[in-house]
Amino acid sequence: RARELQERREVSLAEVQEHYYAAPPQIERGWREHLLATDGRAYLDMVNNVAVLGHGHPGFADAVATQLRRFNSNSRFHYRAVVEFAEKLTATLPAPLDQVFLVNSGSEAVDLALRIAMAATGRRDVWAVGEAYHGWTYASDAVSTSIADNPNALDSRPDWVHVLDTPNPYRGKHRDGDAAAYAPEAVTRIDALAAAGTLPAGFVAEPVYGNAGGMALPEGYLAAVYGAIRRHGGLAIADEVQVGYGRLGHWFWGFEQQGVVPDVVAVAKAMGNGHPLGAVITSAAVAERYRTQGYFFSSAGGSPVSSVVGTAVLDAIRTERLQENAREVGDHLHARLRALGEKHEVIGAVHGFGLYCGVELVTDRTTRAPATALTGRLCDRLLELGVVMQPTGDGQNILKVKPPLVLTRESADFFVDALDHALT
Ligand code: PMP
Repeated sequence: RARELQERREVSLAEVQEHYYAAPPQIERGWREHLLATDGRAYLDMVNNVAVLGHGHPGFADAVATQLRRFNSNSRFHYRAVVEFAEKLTATLPAPLDQVFLVNSGSEAVDLALRIAMAATGRRDVWAVGEAYHGWTYASDAVSTSIADNPNALDSRPDWVHVLDTPNPYRGKHRDGDAAAYAPEAVTRIDALAAAGTLPAGFVAEPVYGNAGGMALPEGYLAAVYGAIRRHGGLAIADEVQVGYGRLGHWFWGFEQQGVVPDVVAVAKAMGNGHPLGAVITSAAVAERYRTQGYFFSSAGGSPVSSVVGTAVLDAIRTERLQENAREVGDHLHARLRALGEKHEVIGAVHGFGLYCGVELVTDRTTRAPATALTGRLCDRLLELGVVMQPTGDGQNILKVKPPLVLTRESADFFVDALDHALT
């Protein structure tokens, strides 16, 4: 049945759309962090950073179904659930971030964040970092510098995008103790371009370096870069699409890990638990500067159903203590993965926090050369052992460990044991 569906998919869906694996299992249904395939096999879903509440969450499903029966429409109506969701969302953010724009995806959120920065400053130049992914719409794609996730990005980069060195403390230009050098170098480049007359509209980055393996940026990196951008009148944009919303366990938002507060925050993925929902949050001052220059309307962004979705997700994260679970199970998972690193030479590093984790596989611990082929084989083997996993990073050598936030300790152990077995 899986093969038959794959053949039909090849006929009707444009081939560029990626799916996991050459011969992917056909999913029948999901439950918490588990998937059941049509062939009767069960899988542990260790890669799903969208279904944060777990698959088939009954309270979530009931809330959405009830709202679908009651009312749904575009966002032009006054409707209580929309306002309530915006209030709940801003309550998770520090001052002065209290103005919400609701959209449908991460790409749209990043696109709008860039548009706001450009309109509010009257400028067009934006700084981004290397090895980043921010989306596929024109503007979010333009600041996506990853080669692996975006093969056309380097050819299509418009002249308003300026790219800072990849601040990768593990396998970049500077590493380990020298990683502190990234920040002053970035500031020097921003200052030099400004001195030459090109002032920034903004700077965009993930506060924890998701696409490059979920690693922490060098300490103080965002504070230094945000400082330089603001000195020249630009806005600091945090892409929290992947990292935000409690996944880090220790922090609800990624920027908290770096001890900074951005001017504009882009969110999606987790906030909809699989339903298309994204947001941009900024300050009243920035929102007002945008209002005088720009226009915003999204038919389905901020619809009554999307807003009920947003509230149901935030409520479940709180009442089911999912951020705490991400910390507790995540700490256990990191400890076990680090221990596995002592046994298997090929594990070069374990990056990240909580249930936002990257296991970096290298052919040699000194050169840190990416073990690309092995990582692909490992993911195939893990599937045979009942674990869904995917490689990430420009070297496609990092296991992207981002399970639903309901992951249990037993499931974390199942994954690590399977990984141990596969590596052996
Ligand atoms: N930013 C980041 C950091 C992402 O990981 C993604 C999705 N992988 C996006 C933006 C784009 O989000 P979407 O796929 O919802 O458009």
